[in-house]
Amino acid sequence: MELIDGKATATAIKAEIADKVAQKVAAGERRPHLAAILVGHDGGSETYVRNKIKACEECGFQSTLVRFESDVDEATLLAAIDELNKNPEIDGFIVQLPLPKHIDEQKITEAVHPDKDVDGFHPVNVGRQSIGLPCFASATPAGIVELLKRYGISTRGKNVVIVGRSNIVGKPLASMLMQKGEQGDATVTVCHSATKNLCDVTRNADILVAAMGRPGFITADMVAPGAVVIDVGTTRVPDASRKSGFRLSGDVDFASVSEKCSYITPVPGGVGPMTICMLMQNTLLAYERRGGIGA
Ligand code: NAP
Repeated sequence: MELIDGKATATAIKAEIADKVAQKVAAGERRPHLAAILVGHDGGSETYVRNKIKACEECGFQSTLVRFESDVDEATLLAAIDELNKNPEIDGFIVQLPLPKHIDEQKITEAVHPDKDVDGFHPVNVGRQSIGLPCFASATPAGIVELLKRYGISTRGKNVVIVGRSNIVGKPLASMLMQKGEQGDATVTVCHSATKNLCDVTRNADILVAAMGRPGFITADMVAPGAVVIDVGTTRVPDASRKSGFRLSGDVDFASVSEKCSYITPVPGGVGPMTICMLMQNTLLAYERRGGIGA
């Protein structure tokens, strides 16, 4: 079994991005600029946004954090989005999810201008991706595709089984892997909570992607010998031995599955770091599309 090291791969990609940015800055251009809107003080969201800002520093980007308390009303949030849409200094921005219950997430997602939607969540980007047009690709599935590519794992003609059909992981990943061409051409099956005989389906996978949010759900008996296993799951489970009081758990029972598969992503250190890295890549793309503009 070979470990797919998302952390090392992400570090290498961020260094590639930083090189490109350094060249642009040396040529007198300004730095790419990513903004993030963070609502409230959820521990997970705080960590994600902190890691995104750190990644901006590593890539040589400028970053701006716009914070609101969790009782912010929808109109205020929409006004902040409008401001970022219009701000010529911002290349792209994200609104960290989840949002408090009183805010309509879909409305917020659709308020972000598609040209600045570096998370790739706006229906315009989702639609463009699904018909193979240039777009901002959703970061987590794009990170998985990039990992497979960098580890020389072809998807052509492979049976890919994705467990989970969310709008941010399962659906866009299925769409990417079924596209014609390199890093696509897979035969994709998407499973969910109504799938019958899940084990029979997952055992047929050359590449199995678990994106359910159910710690340790995928056990060795659900995996074909030699399969490639991608674990997207990231659930905080209580762990008194940790200073934080929790540890991150994937959807795959790593101990048993790693004995049987050919490749596997760890949690943490697998898909997670790649997601942030793809956000950086989308921000660079947004900057380049806007022509870099002078310093
Ligand atoms: P989600 O929106 O909660 O969707 C979970 C999916 O899993 C749903 O489609 C659900 O089916 C399916 N599912 C749940 N239990 C199942 C079961 N017993 N059998 C078959 N299917 C089942 O989740 P998400 O947002 O995609 O996130 C999934 C996991 O990935 C979470 O742990 C999340 O934290 C993690 N994640 C990680 C990253 C990263 O960067 N590493 C990014 C995004 C998400 P139904 O549709 O029928 O309900």
